[in-house]
Amino acid sequence: MSKSKSNFLRVKCGDCGNQQVVFDHAASKVECIICGKSLVKSRGGRSEVVAQIIEVLD
Ligand SMILES: [Zn+2]
Repeated sequence: MSKSKSNFLRVKCGDCGNQQVVFDHAASKVECIICGKSLVKSRGGRSEVVAQIIEVLD
């Protein structure tokens, strides 16, 4: 699996169990649409997925 490729990821919120699709190269942070917990954090221009990854979508 190429590391340079961007993917959409289905992630699960650790707090409320909500699943939503996020872009793993999002320029900004992504929060759970239900409870507001951070799912993707922006760190030094890179995104870091902090939620549980359920599925990688091409
Ligand atoms: Zn949540």
